[in-house]
Amino acid sequence: MQNRSTYVVSNWKMNGTTALIHDMVQTYRQSVRRAHWILCPPATLITETRRHYPEIALGGQDCHHKTSGAFTGDISAHLLTEAGASYVILGHSERRHYHGETSTTVAEKACTAISHGLTPIICIGESEETYDKKQTIDFLKKQLNESLANIHRTQHNVIVAYEPIWAIGTGKTATVTDIEQVHTFLREQLPNTPLLYGGSVTGSNAREILSTQNVNGVLVGGASLKTDEFAKILDAAC
Ligand code: PEP
Repeated sequence: MQNRSTYVVSNWKMNGTTALIHDMVQTYRQSVRRAHWILCPPATLITETRRHYPEIALGGQDCHHKTSGAFTGDISAHLLTEAGASYVILGHSERRHYHGETSTTVAEKACTAISHGLTPIICIGESEETYDKKQTIDFLKKQLNESLANIHRTQHNVIVAYEPIWAIGTGKTATVTDIEQVHTFLREQLPNTPLLYGGSVTGSNAREILSTQNVNGVLVGGASLKTDEFAKILDAAC
């Protein structure tokens, strides 16, 4: 991969406040310039954050596959762009689990996001059962191909995040050997795509994970809401 910059994506899920954003940005002023931090707060916080901190890269946590329409409660790629986002997380395991999103839906959303100027951060990851059966690579191959269908892998800007479901929010992290194996496979498929790891990344394990071959960044949930803890992750990425 050329132009290697280390991404640190904060996925705040349905958490966070304007006050927390102010607190974090003041704290991270130095490291933010060196790491590529992408903050994905609840969509309602994007506009104000963009206004206060034009230097911070922002992302949504989902978008609809249609440009507009009667979809109560959903948000479009166009609205995210207008609010000031440049990225959007798609296919997070919580969306796949709680909202029944399939990889086909994710692929449609990714096309719509790209056509509105957003860079999709596409999440893939296996269940604990699949991991235990040692079927991770076969599973990911299928999920990746389906989630990236219709996307020209070399022409479009896309980021892929490997997030084993069993490691999300559980405190269990994949071993460096597991991460390296998956990321080697992903790199063969996606020579120029930034590849992230996500799943219980903390201030204590970030440095080791970030130094793993073919890992270009991390996607962080729980620890991204704790100012001091997240500062350590940003430092590890600098
Ligand atoms: C996530 O939600 O994508 C995630 C990786 O969460 P956590 O860091 O809490 O495991």
